[in-house]
Amino acid sequence: MNDLSNREYGFDTAAVRSGTKRTGFNEHSEALFLTSSFCFESAAEMAERFKHSENYFTYSRFTNPTVTMFQERLAALEGGEACIATASGMSAILSVVMATLQAGDHIVSSRAIFGSTLGMFSQILGRFGITTTYVDPVDLDAWRTAVRPETKMFFVETPSNPLTELCDIEAVGEIARSVGALYVVDNTFCSPAVQRPLQHGADVVMHSATKLIDGQGRVLGGALIGTRQFLMEKVFPFVRTAGPSLSAFNAWIFLKGLETLSLRAERHSANALAVARWLEGHAAVKRVYYPGLESHPQYELARRQQYSGGSVLAFEVFGDTPEQQRDNAWRVVDATRLCSITANVGDTRTTITHPATTTHGRITPEARAQARITEALLRIAVGLEDPCDIREDLNRGLPT
Ligand SMILES: *Cc1c(COP(=O)(O)O)cnc(C)c1O
Repeated sequence: MNDLSNREYGFDTAAVRSGTKRTGFNEHSEALFLTSSFCFESAAEMAERFKHSENYFTYSRFTNPTVTMFQERLAALEGGEACIATASGMSAILSVVMATLQAGDHIVSSRAIFGSTLGMFSQILGRFGITTTYVDPVDLDAWRTAVRPETKMFFVETPSNPLTELCDIEAVGEIARSVGALYVVDNTFCSPAVQRPLQHGADVVMHSATKLIDGQGRVLGGALIGTRQFLMEKVFPFVRTAGPSLSAFNAWIFLKGLETLSLRAERHSANALAVARWLEGHAAVKRVYYPGLESHPQYELARRQQYSGGSVLAFEVFGDTPEQQRDNAWRVVDATRLCSITANVGDTRTTITHPATTTHGRITPEARAQARITEALLRIAVGLEDPCDIREDLNRGLPT
């Protein structure tokens, strides 16, 4: 195989060129290797390659050329040495946990994280003797006081979903480093086109590639990016043995997704900013949450650690009682003709959700109140449609 990625390129060049490996056919676009195993010339060669399976293609649960190309390209974009791809975002989190923690260990995590991540930490890991303390991502003292002698991992997702609260990646990273905890940042909502946490002190970046990396809402996948030593010594043995490996087909979709990531992310952010500004001036909108707005309480931090505001925003409608708030919010959802009523983010198509009754519907009313997810709140993941059409669509259900 002919490796075309042995040079340092700019982000946009790396997005279309890095990781590419060509076969003897010299195909221009990356080949899709739909094969579960690989053949050898002899018993001796097979023995040698099985001994060093991280360096050779033997079986696609271990490595596959299409998956390797995706891993190298994403590592280049995040500015990491290496990447290990997994079957979903959740299996990426499971892999980093299983690779590094054991019974008795403790995680300090932002409490504003993806619902299934909360479920994994609390319900599943709890059964295996791994405990988690949840903290307000913005409150640095809370991170410090949550640390115990057995704390082994810090976990952050920023901006938070749906309220777009930012966690100061660098500041939390300093605390993690001072106590020797592995610092994992879920970068799904931004993608490396918007934020590169390794530059701000993260040890490991985690992705649900299902979102912006695919970009068109087609397939599931995940990834972990970090140092080669950490990933090859800790994570690869787990993924190879336990099998949450990425399919070659999905890797090929993601490789193609990365080629347009930068362009898409730029447009997602520009559209989201246009919609957020319009909502902010709308008489029927109580409040808008978007890191690209000057009114966002952490606008300065957003400018420091993000290249743009990203695709996700939230806003509140009015209502005197929770029932009225829900009615008014649901009216906006039900009046849409363009926006998709679905929870996916990072898709070409704009999606709209009512978090209190969907993504955050299963947590207790007290936890929801503490997280400030009211009945009046709506989340929009802004897509690539004409922003005028998105505004008009949202306006249908807002009183004038
Ligand atoms: C979707 C998502 C995940 C989980 O990813 P899957 O690919 O659905 O398993 C984790 N974190 C965040 C922030 C997500 O949006």
